[in-house]
Amino acid sequence: MDFTWTEREQTYRAELREYIAAHILPGWNHNDRELWDPRLKAVVKEFCKALGDDGWLTPHWPLEYGGLATSPWERVVVGEEMWGVGEPRGPQYMNVNWIAPAVMMAGTPEQKTKYLTPMAHGSVIWCQGFSEPDAGSDLASLKTRAVRDGDEYIISGQKTWTSYAHAAENIILLVRTNPDLEAHKGISILLVPMDLPGIEVRDIRTPFVTDLCHEVFFNDVRVPVSCLLGPENEGWSVVRHTLTEERLGINRYAYHEQALMEAMEETECVGRSLDDPGLLEQIGYGFAMFEAERSINYLAVQERIDDPHGVRPYASVWRAFGGGLAEYLLRDLLMELMGPEGLINETMADRDTELGTIGPIASGAYEIQLNIVARFCLGLPKHG
Ligand SMILES: Cc1cc2nc3c(=O)[nH]c(=O)nc-3n(C[C@H](O)[C@H](O)[C@H](O)COP(=O)(O)OP(=O)(O)OC[C@H]3O[C@@H](n4cnc5c(N)ncnc54)[C@H](O)[C@@H]3O)c2cc1C
Repeated sequence: MDFTWTEREQTYRAELREYIAAHILPGWNHNDRELWDPRLKAVVKEFCKALGDDGWLTPHWPLEYGGLATSPWERVVVGEEMWGVGEPRGPQYMNVNWIAPAVMMAGTPEQKTKYLTPMAHGSVIWCQGFSEPDAGSDLASLKTRAVRDGDEYIISGQKTWTSYAHAAENIILLVRTNPDLEAHKGISILLVPMDLPGIEVRDIRTPFVTDLCHEVFFNDVRVPVSCLLGPENEGWSVVRHTLTEERLGINRYAYHEQALMEAMEETECVGRSLDDPGLLEQIGYGFAMFEAERSINYLAVQERIDDPHGVRPYASVWRAFGGGLAEYLLRDLLMELMGPEGLINETMADRDTELGTIGPIASGAYEIQLNIVARFCLGLPKHG
Protein backbone atom coordinates (compact mmCIF):
# COMPACT_ATOMS: atom_id res chain seq x y z
CA MET A 1 0.00 0.00 0.00
CA ASP A 2 1.27 3.47 -0.94
CA PHE A 3 0.91 5.83 2.03
CA THR A 4 1.93 9.03 0.24
CA TRP A 5 -0.64 11.70 -0.55
CA THR A 6 -0.98 12.91 -4.13
CA GLU A 7 -0.32 16.54 -4.95
CA ARG A 8 -4.04 17.06 -5.50
CA GLU A 9 -4.84 15.62 -2.06
CA GLN A 10 -2.21 17.81 -0.43
CA THR A 11 -3.67 20.91 -2.07
CA TYR A 12 -7.15 19.82 -1.01
CA ARG A 13 -5.95 19.47 2.58
CA ALA A 14 -4.20 22.85 2.57
CA GLU A 15 -7.32 24.60 1.24
CA LEU A 16 -9.55 22.94 3.79
CA ARG A 17 -7.17 23.73 6.65
CA GLU A 18 -7.21 27.37 5.66
CA TYR A 19 -10.99 27.33 5.39
CA ILE A 20 -11.47 25.78 8.82
CA ALA A 21 -9.07 28.25 10.43
CA ALA A 22 -11.09 31.12 8.95
CA HIS A 23 -14.49 29.80 10.08
CA ILE A 24 -14.06 27.85 13.33
CA LEU A 25 -15.16 29.33 16.66
CA PRO A 26 -11.93 30.50 18.36
CA GLY A 27 -11.05 28.17 21.23
CA TRP A 28 -13.25 25.33 19.96
CA ASN A 29 -12.40 21.99 21.60
CA HIS A 30 -13.71 18.46 21.30
CA ASN A 31 -15.91 18.76 24.41
CA ASP A 32 -17.84 21.55 22.66
CA ARG A 33 -19.01 18.89 20.23
CA GLU A 34 -21.42 17.67 22.94
CA LEU A 35 -23.27 21.02 22.70
CA TRP A 36 -23.33 21.30 26.48
CA ASP A 37 -24.00 25.04 26.14
CA PRO A 38 -27.14 25.91 24.05
CA ARG A 39 -25.19 28.61 22.20
CA LEU A 40 -22.95 25.94 20.71
CA LYS A 41 -25.83 24.50 18.72
CA ALA A 42 -26.15 27.79 16.79
CA VAL A 43 -22.36 27.91 16.32
CA VAL A 44 -22.29 24.38 14.88
CA LYS A 45 -25.19 25.07 12.55
CA GLU A 46 -23.59 28.26 11.28
CA PHE A 47 -20.28 26.46 10.69
CA CYS A 48 -21.95 23.51 8.95
CA LYS A 49 -24.11 25.79 6.81
CA ALA A 50 -20.96 27.54 5.60
CA LEU A 51 -19.34 24.16 4.93
CA GLY A 52 -22.44 23.09 2.97
CA ASP A 53 -22.50 26.30 0.92
CA ASP A 54 -18.81 26.01 0.10
CA GLY A 55 -18.69 22.30 -0.76
CA TRP A 56 -16.91 21.02 2.36
CA LEU A 57 -19.74 19.32 4.22
CA THR A 58 -20.73 16.47 1.93
CA PRO A 59 -18.06 16.41 -0.80
CA HIS A 60 -17.84 12.60 -0.70
CA TRP A 61 -21.57 12.15 -1.37
CA PRO A 62 -22.58 11.04 -4.88
CA LEU A 63 -23.48 13.77 -7.38
CA GLU A 64 -27.13 12.70 -7.42
CA TYR A 65 -27.44 13.70 -3.75
CA GLY A 66 -25.72 17.04 -4.20
CA GLY A 67 -22.22 15.83 -3.32
CA LEU A 68 -19.06 16.25 -5.37
CA ALA A 69 -18.21 12.53 -5.57
CA THR A 70 -14.74 13.15 -4.16
CA SER A 71 -12.49 10.14 -3.62
CA PRO A 72 -12.53 8.05 -0.41
CA TRP A 73 -9.08 9.48 0.36
CA GLU A 74 -10.32 13.05 0.08
CA ARG A 75 -13.03 12.01 2.52
CA VAL A 76 -10.26 10.86 4.88
CA VAL A 77 -8.60 14.26 4.51
CA VAL A 78 -11.83 16.00 5.54
CA GLY A 79 -12.24 13.68 8.56
CA GLU A 80 -8.64 14.18 9.67
CA GLU A 81 -8.78 17.95 9.39
CA MET A 82 -12.07 18.11 11.31
CA TRP A 83 -10.95 15.74 14.09
CA GLY A 84 -7.58 17.46 14.29
CA VAL A 85 -9.34 20.62 15.51
CA GLY A 86 -11.88 18.87 17.77
CA GLU A 87 -14.65 18.09 15.25
CA PRO A 88 -16.38 21.47 14.78
CA ARG A 89 -19.16 19.83 12.77
CA GLY A 90 -20.49 18.80 16.20
CA PRO A 91 -23.05 15.98 15.88
CA GLN A 92 -23.32 16.57 12.15
CA TYR A 93 -20.31 14.35 11.52
CA MET A 94 -22.81 11.53 12.11
CA ASN A 95 -25.23 12.88 9.48
CA VAL A 96 -22.69 13.04 6.72
CA ASN A 97 -20.84 9.84 7.51
CA TRP A 98 -23.41 7.22 8.40
CA ILE A 99 -26.98 8.44 8.86
CA ALA A 100 -27.11 9.83 5.31
CA PRO A 101 -25.56 6.65 3.82
CA ALA A 102 -28.29 4.65 5.58
CA VAL A 103 -30.93 6.87 3.95
CA MET A 104 -29.16 6.58 0.58
CA MET A 105 -29.03 2.82 0.95
CA ALA A 106 -32.61 2.15 2.02
CA GLY A 107 -34.68 5.34 1.62
CA THR A 108 -37.54 6.00 -0.79
CA PRO A 109 -37.08 8.90 -3.26
CA GLU A 110 -39.30 11.06 -1.02
CA GLN A 111 -37.24 10.21 2.06
CA LYS A 112 -34.01 11.00 0.26
CA THR A 113 -35.28 14.46 -0.69
CA LYS A 114 -36.79 15.10 2.72
CA TYR A 115 -33.81 14.02 4.85
CA LEU A 116 -30.69 14.41 2.73
CA THR A 117 -31.31 17.98 1.60
CA PRO A 118 -31.25 19.55 5.11
CA MET A 119 -28.25 17.38 6.02
CA ALA A 120 -26.36 18.66 2.97
CA HIS A 121 -27.19 22.23 4.01
CA GLY A 122 -25.89 21.66 7.53
CA SER A 123 -29.19 22.75 9.02
CA VAL A 124 -30.25 19.69 11.01
CA ILE A 125 -28.97 17.72 13.97
CA TRP A 126 -29.67 14.02 14.30
CA CYS A 127 -29.08 11.59 17.10
CA GLN A 128 -28.85 7.82 17.07
CA GLY A 129 -31.30 5.79 19.17
CA PHE A 130 -29.89 2.28 19.13
CA SER A 131 -28.75 1.30 22.66
CA GLU A 132 -31.19 0.44 25.44
CA PRO A 133 -30.74 -0.36 29.13
CA ASP A 134 -30.50 -4.09 28.31
CA ALA A 135 -29.29 -3.85 24.75
CA GLY A 136 -25.83 -2.38 24.20
CA SER A 137 -23.24 -4.91 23.10
CA ASP A 138 -26.10 -7.29 22.42
CA LEU A 139 -27.97 -4.71 20.36
CA ALA A 140 -30.28 -7.25 18.71
CA SER A 141 -32.01 -7.85 22.03
CA LEU A 142 -33.56 -4.38 21.93
CA LYS A 143 -37.15 -4.10 23.17
CA THR A 144 -38.51 -0.70 22.15
CA ARG A 145 -41.71 -1.60 20.31
CA ALA A 146 -43.38 -0.05 17.30
CA VAL A 147 -46.87 -1.42 16.73
CA ARG A 148 -48.64 -0.75 13.44
CA ASP A 149 -52.00 0.99 13.81
CA GLY A 150 -53.46 1.84 10.39
CA ASP A 151 -51.17 4.39 8.76
CA GLU A 152 -49.16 4.91 11.91
CA TYR A 153 -46.72 3.19 14.25
CA ILE A 154 -47.10 3.59 18.00
CA ILE A 155 -43.67 3.59 19.67
CA SER A 156 -43.12 2.67 23.31
CA GLY A 157 -39.89 1.98 25.15
CA GLN A 158 -36.61 3.53 26.23
CA LYS A 159 -33.25 4.30 24.64
CA THR A 160 -30.16 5.13 26.61
CA TRP A 161 -26.71 6.74 26.25
CA THR A 162 -28.14 8.72 23.33
CA SER A 163 -25.60 11.42 22.45
CA TYR A 164 -26.92 14.81 21.32
CA ALA A 165 -30.58 13.91 22.08
CA HIS A 166 -31.06 17.26 23.87
CA ALA A 167 -30.15 19.18 20.71
CA ALA A 168 -31.36 16.88 17.93
CA GLU A 169 -34.31 17.58 15.68
CA ASN A 170 -34.49 13.94 14.50
CA ILE A 171 -33.54 10.49 15.72
CA ILE A 172 -32.65 7.39 13.73
CA LEU A 173 -34.41 4.82 15.85
CA LEU A 174 -34.18 1.05 16.08
CA VAL A 175 -37.46 -0.58 17.09
CA ARG A 176 -38.86 -4.06 17.31
CA THR A 177 -41.77 -4.44 14.92
CA ASN A 178 -42.17 -8.21 15.25
CA PRO A 179 -41.37 -9.85 18.60
CA ASP A 180 -42.18 -13.32 17.22
CA LEU A 181 -39.29 -13.41 14.76
CA GLU A 182 -35.75 -14.25 15.89
CA ALA A 183 -33.89 -11.32 17.43
CA HIS A 184 -32.16 -9.89 14.33
CA LYS A 185 -35.16 -10.30 12.08
CA GLY A 186 -37.96 -8.34 13.76
CA ILE A 187 -36.10 -5.02 13.90
CA SER A 188 -36.99 -1.94 11.85
CA ILE A 189 -35.61 1.57 11.48
CA LEU A 190 -37.78 4.64 11.99
CA LEU A 191 -36.77 8.24 11.24
CA VAL A 192 -38.52 10.20 13.93
CA PRO A 193 -38.82 13.93 14.70
CA MET A 194 -37.78 14.61 18.30
CA ASP A 195 -40.52 17.15 19.04
CA LEU A 196 -43.45 14.72 18.97
CA PRO A 197 -45.76 14.37 21.98
CA GLY A 198 -44.68 11.46 24.21
CA ILE A 199 -40.89 11.84 23.68
CA GLU A 200 -38.98 12.76 26.82
CA VAL A 201 -35.21 13.37 26.99
CA ARG A 202 -33.31 13.18 30.28
CA ASP A 203 -29.64 14.05 30.78
CA ILE A 204 -27.51 11.26 32.30
CA ARG A 205 -25.26 12.91 34.87
CA THR A 206 -21.57 12.13 34.35
CA PRO A 207 -18.33 13.49 35.83
CA PHE A 208 -17.65 15.11 32.45
CA VAL A 209 -19.57 17.82 30.57
CA THR A 210 -23.34 18.04 30.96
CA ASP A 211 -25.48 16.61 28.18
CA LEU A 212 -22.83 14.06 27.26
CA CYS A 213 -25.53 11.42 26.83
CA HIS A 214 -29.18 10.91 27.60
CA GLU A 215 -32.09 8.61 28.20
CA VAL A 216 -34.91 9.00 25.68
CA PHE A 217 -38.37 7.73 26.60
CA PHE A 218 -41.09 6.96 24.07
CA ASN A 219 -44.55 6.95 25.60
CA ASP A 220 -47.02 5.85 22.91
CA VAL A 221 -45.48 8.12 20.31
CA ARG A 222 -47.36 8.09 17.01
CA VAL A 223 -45.49 8.42 13.71
CA PRO A 224 -46.72 7.94 10.13
CA VAL A 225 -45.58 4.73 8.40
CA SER A 226 -43.69 6.95 5.94
CA CYS A 227 -41.05 7.21 8.72
CA LEU A 228 -40.05 3.59 8.11
CA LEU A 229 -36.58 3.32 6.51
CA GLY A 230 -36.26 0.18 4.38
CA PRO A 231 -38.50 -2.86 4.65
CA GLU A 232 -40.30 -3.61 7.91
CA ASN A 233 -38.45 -6.16 10.10
CA GLU A 234 -35.31 -5.95 7.96
CA GLY A 235 -33.55 -3.00 9.55
CA TRP A 236 -30.62 -5.10 10.76
CA SER A 237 -28.83 -5.28 7.41
CA VAL A 238 -28.96 -1.48 7.13
CA VAL A 239 -27.68 -1.16 10.70
CA ARG A 240 -24.72 -3.46 10.10
CA HIS A 241 -23.69 -1.33 7.16
CA THR A 242 -24.26 1.84 9.17
CA LEU A 243 -22.12 0.66 12.09
CA THR A 244 -19.17 -0.05 9.82
CA GLU A 245 -19.48 3.44 8.35
CA GLU A 246 -19.64 4.79 11.88
CA ARG A 247 -16.39 3.11 12.81
CA LEU A 248 -14.60 4.46 9.75
CA GLY A 249 -16.06 7.96 9.82
CA ILE A 250 -14.26 9.00 12.99
CA ASN A 251 -10.62 9.94 12.38
CA ARG A 252 -9.67 10.11 16.03
CA TYR A 253 -5.92 9.69 15.51
CA ALA A 254 -5.82 13.22 14.10
CA TYR A 255 -7.24 14.44 17.39
CA HIS A 256 -4.92 12.21 19.44
CA GLU A 257 -1.82 13.64 17.76
CA GLN A 258 -3.04 17.20 18.11
CA ALA A 259 -4.01 16.68 21.77
CA LEU A 260 -0.55 15.35 22.59
CA MET A 261 1.12 18.31 20.90
CA GLU A 262 -1.11 20.80 22.72
CA ALA A 263 -0.51 19.02 26.03
CA MET A 264 3.26 19.28 25.52
CA GLU A 265 2.87 23.05 25.12
CA GLU A 266 0.68 23.24 28.22
CA THR A 267 3.21 21.20 30.16
CA GLU A 268 5.92 23.73 29.43
CA CYS A 269 3.55 26.58 30.29
CA VAL A 270 3.03 25.21 33.81
CA GLY A 271 6.80 25.01 34.24
CA ARG A 272 7.22 21.24 34.00
CA SER A 273 10.23 20.06 32.07
CA LEU A 274 9.94 17.90 28.98
CA ASP A 275 13.61 16.96 29.21
CA ASP A 276 13.13 13.91 31.37
CA PRO A 277 14.28 10.91 29.24
CA GLY A 278 11.57 8.67 30.66
CA LEU A 279 8.90 11.19 29.73
CA LEU A 280 10.36 11.70 26.26
CA GLU A 281 10.29 7.97 25.73
CA GLN A 282 6.60 7.87 26.63
CA ILE A 283 5.84 10.80 24.32
CA GLY A 284 7.68 9.04 21.49
CA TYR A 285 5.72 5.88 22.22
CA GLY A 286 2.48 7.90 22.10
CA PHE A 287 3.23 9.40 18.69
CA ALA A 288 4.24 5.97 17.38
CA MET A 289 0.94 4.50 18.59
CA PHE A 290 -1.08 7.26 16.93
CA GLU A 291 0.84 6.75 13.70
CA ALA A 292 0.00 3.04 13.90
CA GLU A 293 -3.63 4.01 14.50
CA ARG A 294 -3.55 6.14 11.35
CA SER A 295 -2.06 3.30 9.28
CA ILE A 296 -4.70 0.84 10.45
CA ASN A 297 -7.38 3.34 9.51
CA TYR A 298 -5.91 3.63 6.02
CA LEU A 299 -5.95 -0.16 5.76
CA ALA A 300 -9.63 -0.15 6.69
CA VAL A 301 -10.37 2.55 4.12
CA GLN A 302 -8.57 0.54 1.44
CA GLU A 303 -10.57 -2.53 2.49
CA ARG A 304 -13.80 -0.60 1.91
CA ILE A 305 -12.59 0.61 -1.49
CA ASP A 306 -11.63 -2.94 -2.53
CA ASP A 307 -14.84 -4.58 -1.32
CA PRO A 308 -17.56 -2.03 -0.50
CA HIS A 309 -20.14 -4.63 0.47
CA GLY A 310 -17.99 -7.30 2.11
CA VAL A 311 -17.35 -8.01 5.80
CA ARG A 312 -14.77 -5.45 6.90
CA PRO A 313 -12.69 -6.82 9.73
CA TYR A 314 -10.14 -4.00 9.55
CA ALA A 315 -12.86 -1.53 10.46
CA SER A 316 -13.03 -3.43 13.75
CA VAL A 317 -9.24 -3.68 14.12
CA TRP A 318 -9.16 0.08 13.66
CA ARG A 319 -12.01 0.64 16.07
CA ALA A 320 -10.47 -1.62 18.73
CA PHE A 321 -7.09 0.03 18.41
CA GLY A 322 -8.19 3.65 17.99
CA GLY A 323 -11.26 3.64 20.21
CA GLY A 324 -9.68 1.46 22.86
CA LEU A 325 -5.92 1.29 23.27
CA ALA A 326 -5.01 4.67 21.81
CA GLU A 327 -7.51 6.56 23.93
CA TYR A 328 -6.50 4.89 27.17
CA LEU A 329 -2.91 5.63 26.25
CA LEU A 330 -3.57 9.30 25.48
CA ARG A 331 -5.51 9.84 28.69
CA ASP A 332 -2.78 8.30 30.85
CA LEU A 333 0.01 10.02 28.95
CA LEU A 334 -1.54 13.47 29.28
CA MET A 335 -2.00 12.99 33.01
CA GLU A 336 1.59 11.84 33.30
CA LEU A 337 2.77 14.91 31.40
CA MET A 338 0.76 17.44 33.33
CA GLY A 339 0.90 15.86 36.79
CA PRO A 340 -1.57 17.37 39.30
CA GLU A 341 -2.00 20.43 37.04
CA GLY A 342 -3.74 18.10 34.59
CA LEU A 343 -6.74 17.99 36.91
CA ILE A 344 -7.41 21.67 36.36
CA ASN A 345 -10.46 22.36 34.26
CA GLU A 346 -9.77 23.24 30.65
CA THR A 347 -6.32 21.70 30.42
CA MET A 348 -5.98 19.19 27.61
CA ALA A 349 -5.40 16.42 30.16
CA ASP A 350 -8.59 17.26 32.01
CA ARG A 351 -10.64 17.42 28.81
CA ASP A 352 -9.21 14.19 27.55
CA THR A 353 -10.18 12.30 30.68
CA GLU A 354 -13.60 12.24 29.07
CA LEU A 355 -12.60 10.86 25.66
CA GLY A 356 -10.13 8.40 27.13
CA THR A 357 -12.79 7.02 29.44
CA ILE A 358 -15.80 6.82 27.16
CA GLY A 359 -14.05 6.19 23.83
CA PRO A 360 -13.52 2.49 24.46
CA ILE A 361 -17.28 2.05 25.16
CA ALA A 362 -19.15 4.46 22.88
CA SER A 363 -19.99 3.10 19.42
CA GLY A 364 -19.33 -0.48 20.51
CA ALA A 365 -17.26 -1.71 23.46
CA TYR A 366 -13.59 -2.51 22.98
CA GLU A 367 -14.08 -6.18 23.87
CA ILE A 368 -16.83 -6.54 21.27
CA GLN A 369 -14.48 -5.21 18.61
CA LEU A 370 -11.87 -7.72 19.75
CA ASN A 371 -14.45 -10.50 19.40
CA ILE A 372 -15.05 -9.44 15.79
CA VAL A 373 -11.32 -9.32 15.13
CA ALA A 374 -10.93 -12.80 16.64
CA ARG A 375 -13.66 -14.25 14.45
CA PHE A 376 -13.15 -12.48 11.15
CA CYS A 377 -9.41 -11.71 11.11
CA LEU A 378 -8.00 -14.60 13.08
CA GLY A 379 -10.65 -17.19 12.16
CA LEU A 380 -11.22 -18.18 15.77
CA PRO A 381 -14.50 -19.93 16.63
CA LYS A 382 -17.49 -17.94 17.87
CA HIS A 383 -17.71 -17.98 21.66
CA GLY A 384 -20.69 -19.93 23.08
C1 LIG B 1 -20.47 8.46 25.83
C2 LIG B 1 -21.32 7.44 25.17
C3 LIG B 1 -22.07 7.82 24.09
C4 LIG B 1 -22.90 6.91 23.46
N1 LIG B 1 -23.70 7.35 22.44
C5 LIG B 1 -24.61 6.50 21.94
C6 LIG B 1 -25.55 6.97 20.97
O1 LIG B 1 -25.52 8.13 20.56
N2 LIG B 1 -26.48 6.12 20.53
C7 LIG B 1 -26.55 4.82 20.94
O2 LIG B 1 -27.41 4.10 20.48
N3 LIG B 1 -25.67 4.34 21.86
C8 LIG B 1 -24.72 5.16 22.36
N4 LIG B 1 -23.84 4.70 23.31
C9 LIG B 1 -23.97 3.33 23.80
C10 LIG B 1 -22.83 2.39 23.42
O3 LIG B 1 -22.98 1.98 22.10
C11 LIG B 1 -22.91 1.23 24.41
O4 LIG B 1 -22.56 1.75 25.67
C12 LIG B 1 -21.98 0.10 24.04
O5 LIG B 1 -22.43 -0.55 22.89
C13 LIG B 1 -21.85 -0.92 25.20
O6 LIG B 1 -23.12 -1.33 25.62
P1 LIG B 1 -23.51 -1.30 27.18
O7 LIG B 1 -23.20 0.07 27.71
O8 LIG B 1 -24.92 -1.77 27.29
O9 LIG B 1 -22.54 -2.28 27.90
P2 LIG B 1 -22.69 -3.88 27.98
O10 LIG B 1 -23.10 -4.39 26.64
O11 LIG B 1 -23.54 -4.21 29.14
O12 LIG B 1 -21.22 -4.30 28.27
C14 LIG B 1 -20.64 -4.12 29.56
C15 LIG B 1 -19.27 -4.70 29.54
O13 LIG B 1 -19.34 -6.09 29.23
C16 LIG B 1 -18.50 -6.40 28.13
N5 LIG B 1 -19.16 -7.37 27.26
C17 LIG B 1 -20.45 -7.42 26.93
N6 LIG B 1 -20.69 -8.42 26.06
C18 LIG B 1 -19.50 -9.01 25.83
C19 LIG B 1 -19.08 -10.09 25.00
N7 LIG B 1 -19.95 -10.76 24.21
N8 LIG B 1 -17.76 -10.43 25.00
C20 LIG B 1 -16.85 -9.73 25.76
N9 LIG B 1 -17.21 -8.70 26.56
C21 LIG B 1 -18.51 -8.35 26.59
C22 LIG B 1 -18.35 -5.07 27.37
O14 LIG B 1 -17.14 -5.01 26.68
C23 LIG B 1 -18.40 -4.05 28.47
O15 LIG B 1 -17.11 -3.79 28.98
C24 LIG B 1 -22.95 5.58 23.93
C25 LIG B 1 -22.16 5.18 25.01
C26 LIG B 1 -21.35 6.09 25.63
C27 LIG B 1 -20.53 5.66 26.80
